[in-house]
Amino acid sequence: MNDFKRYLVHISGIVQGVGMRPYIYNTAKKHKLGGFVSNQGSSVSIEISGNKVDIHKFLVELLEKPPIGSMIDKVKIKPMDGDTSDGFFIIDSSREKIQQGLIPPDMAICDDCIREMLDRRNRRYLYPFTNCTACGPRYSIIRTLPYDRENTSMSDYKMCTTCKDEYESPDDRRFHAQTNCCPECGPKLTLLDKNESPIACSNPVLTARQLLYEGKLLAIKGLGGYHIACNGQDEKAIGLLRNRKRRPDKPLAIMAANLEAAKLICYISEKEGEILVGRQKPIVLLDKKYPQLLPENIAPGINRLGVMLPYTPLHHLLFHEQLRYLVMTSGNTSGMSISYRDEDALERLKCIADYFMVHDREILTPVDDSLVRVFDGNEMISRNSRGYSPTALKIDSESDIIAAGAEQKSSLCLVHKGYAHTSQYLGNLEDMSVYEEYLKLVKRMNSMLDTGSQIIAHDLHTGYLSTQWAIEQSTEKIPIQHHQAHMAACMAEYNLRQDAIGIIYDGTGLGTDGAIWGGEFFVGTIGKYTRVGQWEYVKLQGGDSTIREPWKTAASYLYAIGVRESGYLYNVSNQDFKAVQNSIKHNLNCFESSSIGRLFDCVAALVLQRMHITYDAQGPIELESAIKQDVRELYPYAIDEKEEKLIIGYEGIILGILQDLKSGKGTSYISAKFHNTVCEATVECACKIRTRFPIDNIVLGGGVFENVYLLKNIIKALKQHSFHIYYNRKVPVNDGGVAFGQVAIAAKVAKEGTYVSGCSF
Ligand code: ZN
Ligand code: ZN
Ligand code: FE
Repeated sequence: MNDFKRYLVHISGIVQGVGMRPYIYNTAKKHKLGGFVSNQGSSVSIEISGNKVDIHKFLVELLEKPPIGSMIDKVKIKPMDGDTSDGFFIIDSSREKIQQGLIPPDMAICDDCIREMLDRRNRRYLYPFTNCTACGPRYSIIRTLPYDRENTSMSDYKMCTTCKDEYESPDDRRFHAQTNCCPECGPKLTLLDKNESPIACSNPVLTARQLLYEGKLLAIKGLGGYHIACNGQDEKAIGLLRNRKRRPDKPLAIMAANLEAAKLICYISEKEGEILVGRQKPIVLLDKKYPQLLPENIAPGINRLGVMLPYTPLHHLLFHEQLRYLVMTSGNTSGMSISYRDEDALERLKCIADYFMVHDREILTPVDDSLVRVFDGNEMISRNSRGYSPTALKIDSESDIIAAGAEQKSSLCLVHKGYAHTSQYLGNLEDMSVYEEYLKLVKRMNSMLDTGSQIIAHDLHTGYLSTQWAIEQSTEKIPIQHHQAHMAACMAEYNLRQDAIGIIYDGTGLGTDGAIWGGEFFVGTIGKYTRVGQWEYVKLQGGDSTIREPWKTAASYLYAIGVRESGYLYNVSNQDFKAVQNSIKHNLNCFESSSIGRLFDCVAALVLQRMHITYDAQGPIELESAIKQDVRELYPYAIDEKEEKLIIGYEGIILGILQDLKSGKGTSYISAKFHNTVCEATVECACKIRTRFPIDNIVLGGGVFENVYLLKNIIKALKQHSFHIYYNRKVPVNDGGVAFGQVAIAAKVAKEGTYVSGCSF
């Protein structure tokens, strides 16, 4: 028996809630090995014994083909003494005090479960809560770790004997499936009218489908919260939804019956198709196909559409030959957090929905749909939520840290045992309901991860509720500049340790000089920055209202370049225009801004007459969508050196735009020319910086880089100058990534003791 071996194997990563233990059990059995597997929270411990060759095969299979949804990032193997073991066992670990691990995200229904659900002979035929070890709810129903049934909201349901047999049978694909259930023993659906009275019907799903087809609006309880749904081909129903939701323009997401149906409405690359059908099922931003099969009021004025495929069993059951597309928008009223508790949803959504499709499985943590796009063949996450969050990325830190994040697109990030766990997107904290969820999430994530005393990282802006929360806490705090957090978010995602030139184009963020930044050039590394360039400051009038009323921003830019006539902004009265400009003259309620987001707002107001906006970045999104032709021209711009900083001037750009408007040039042409100019100026500025600092790494960050035309053309030009370019993919490039950037800086500062945020060359 020379070939007999015994090993202790530790694997860590995402190993809970993905069927890892049953998988190991079955693989060990297959290779006729003995021993046991037990769950240690963040790791799985395996004692394996048998023939050397078989153990090798077992390990290769485990590492090369781990279960769907798992992520193995560390393996430790230690030889052991001892005899052969008879049989292989799963040791129930839930009674031990174990170290807390990674939190498994929710997963879309798998193909095997869909097949069963549509099979007349199967006991789960048409059962809308069918799930298995490879699919179903996780994060949204977990109360605490380890991920075992009694620690989830499924603890209310006792498995029937058949389900229990599946759960205990090693050959079954539901072996140790914590959320296992069936029509006998699991959650149930109910269809209610808006007065909360149950609708008498033999099959709520079929009735709901019929109601949708007839143009009704349904609030549907899903995996991480409620959706408002209506027929995606019914212009009237969509109009009604927009009215009731008070959401006149914001693009609505579409759920298509399947990939084929999605291909009829959008162009879908191979990678985009892979993501659409994958286990995370995010909303994917796709290029619309014209002429459109769907009414224009789904995403007015923009040429992209957010599309996802069904991800719960119920979604699959709602589609029909005559119902191929559903509008599926978050169940909330404008600005509020997504509704997920039944009582609250019924109260808040009855002014929107005609009917409610509810179920009795409690959602413990709200998780909105994630939003991604494919850029240059890679997935870029724009809204990190269902299926992705909590995202665990490795980080070099011995301290426990919590980052409070930004204000809009807020999220939290917790560092514990060398991992940064970024929470789901919560929305804009200015809304009380969002802030309440934020406070709950702080508690819940801390308890799930079993964190110790934490360093708190937060934004400089004391007006942010996240900052105010941070300041109230009694532990050590590290205030972090917003755009430096954006830069760090990218460098930490790539573990980039050398110096880089950071180009951060953003909406707003408070600078260290008290101005609003957002068109910045930094040189440095995580925790150590020099501001070496910026877009020229403009004095903006009107505080936060300028964001909702871009015409005010335009009036401010016009004032700065000496234009006093209001005629460029058609729908603004001369009186209002003059009021803004006079206030600037007298410095009333004014602030300096270098934000590129605001420059785009100004140009959108001038070119598209976009005077008011009803959703975030509406002007810039419409401006990018307006580009329909290949334009090479540029507006004149200047790069000057002032106070040892490079300053990109906007005067020539805006004067050029006014000139083109006067001579009747089209919006597509002007928009493209403006975008080209921003690209050219950016790249020239980067090259000038490199003459002083021999750095080839460029980090692109900030929400403005969600503009694909800009991102693509800046990268293309930078590559021609042999720069190495980095931009966020796993972490949102927008403010959803700020919390991760904050922890990256705080971890460095905690280790090295200094945070350098300097200016000039
Ligand atoms: Zn399944
Ligand atoms: Zn059952
Ligand atoms: Fe930002």
